[in-house]
Amino acid sequence: MSYFSDLGLAEPILHALASKGYTDPTPIQRQSIPALLEGRDLLGIAQTGTGKTAAFALPSLHRLAADMKPRKPASCRMLVLSPTRELAAQIAENIAAYAKNLRLVVDCVFGGVPVGKQARRLVPGVDILVATPGRLLDLIDQRALTLGRVEIFVLDEADQMMDLGFIHALRRVANLLPKERQSLFFSATMPKAIADLGKQFINNPVRVEVTPQASTAERVEQFVTFVNQAEKQALLTLRIRALLADGKLDRALVFTRTKHGADRVVRHLSAASISARAIHGNKSQAQRTAALDAFRQGSCPILVATDIAARGIDVSGVSHVFNFELPNVAEQYVHRIGRTARAGADGEAISFCAPDEKPYLKDIEKLTGIKLMPLPLPEGFLAEAAKLPAVSRQPDEAERDARRDDRDARGRFGDRGGNRGGGQGRGGQGHGGQGRGGEGRGAGANPNRRDDRSPGGRAQGVDGRPRDANPRKVDDRGSERGPVGNPARAERGDAPQGDKPRTFRPRGGGAPGVGQHRNKVRRAV
Ligand code: AMP
Repeated sequence: MSYFSDLGLAEPILHALASKGYTDPTPIQRQSIPALLEGRDLLGIAQTGTGKTAAFALPSLHRLAADMKPRKPASCRMLVLSPTRELAAQIAENIAAYAKNLRLVVDCVFGGVPVGKQARRLVPGVDILVATPGRLLDLIDQRALTLGRVEIFVLDEADQMMDLGFIHALRRVANLLPKERQSLFFSATMPKAIADLGKQFINNPVRVEVTPQASTAERVEQFVTFVNQAEKQALLTLRIRALLADGKLDRALVFTRTKHGADRVVRHLSAASISARAIHGNKSQAQRTAALDAFRQGSCPILVATDIAARGIDVSGVSHVFNFELPNVAEQYVHRIGRTARAGADGEAISFCAPDEKPYLKDIEKLTGIKLMPLPLPEGFLAEAAKLPAVSRQPDEAERDARRDDRDARGRFGDRGGNRGGGQGRGGQGHGGQGRGGEGRGAGANPNRRDDRSPGGRAQGVDGRPRDANPRKVDDRGSERGPVGNPARAERGDAPQGDKPRTFRPRGGGAPGVGQHRNKVRRAV
């Protein structure tokens, strides 16, 4: 089978695919769609970029459309859970595009925006709801939604969900779902803790794996440069400048562990006349959208991102991924480098490893089974670095705002303060190689986190993961609690004000106002 038309999908779906220019299913689609059309549960080990959204969306749409039912108030027939707002919005947008010739209503809800408007939109009920877990439970607690009519349940990016501390939220969702349903469970990696979680949702699943477990994308060349933290900025600037000059860099994603770190990298690159933008939870939605658009269109070739913000970014043509800091959770490395070498292209991942990050490198090499190739410092590095323009240590206004937000968060949330994935626990690097203390602490730094990062001194969770990466501190409601590993904080941290959840109403469908909107992505509030 090599065409969508061979898979038995309904005509309106095939037409929607044709209008997107998709003719051949990707491997995960080929493997999943027939089983899902039969109503089987599915365990999918796949990263974003493999076409997994269509893999679960197309057969689900087929089944829902083949058995049309009137929408019931405050309910949905299909529920898709996604860890971040960007990913949720992207999934909803994709599903709406695939469903454009069907009479199905798609809606998307996530944290960081007023819940009341979302609740009102759910009053008549929807067919397909894409949600982040914290906001989903908020809506359930407000009786704006019940899960009793869910026929198809999709849990996407399960490993990311665990890392963000959604475990309790997910257990609660599992208890609210009807027993009789089809369940799909996706994760880029499948360590034991995730597999155990999966068992709570799926029953006798078809297993589909498009990349071998815990492996990294095959076509990504992976390098590591050993460098002091204080010299990373100069190294990044010089590497990017050289790659741009050689015409070897199309688009690069730079990962930092903290939001402030991301801002700092942008300042240094900008000072060297390299166009770069940051995307993280302290940026407004408008800033994030503008940054992503500029990156997609190519006017800004460098996007600096925190892990959470980068989830769900689907941009082709990313030639390079830089790990400015190594992630302290090895699985995160797999996610990061999966951003390059998409759609058949080749890519390079270059990690900067400071002496105290060596344990993380070891974890990564153990997980991936790949030894990163050492990439020496460029020739004359120190002399070249000294020629780079000085950058003010003064935080810009946005950064000051961000720090105030962090302080507020710490005030509100006590010693759990710090954004997830942030909290480097030590000063960022000051300009001119000042090293620790140069610009104050990383985002939401928590003095205790210092230990987490110390080689050999990482606090281990019960499953052997670092505790900060796999927090189990979240209450059932998944909200109003500490930011570290907290769903609400994770969403809020990446869901600044100003964005609006979206509703996708079908052509000629029965929902109020449908006629006017005709499949347009509607700003629902
Ligand atoms: P995903 O893994 O769902 O994030 O999808 C990655 C990208 O591939 C998205 O931009 C999809 O729209 C696109 N895509 C999905 N399926 C296909 C296909 N069969 N042919 C071409 N592109 C696809």
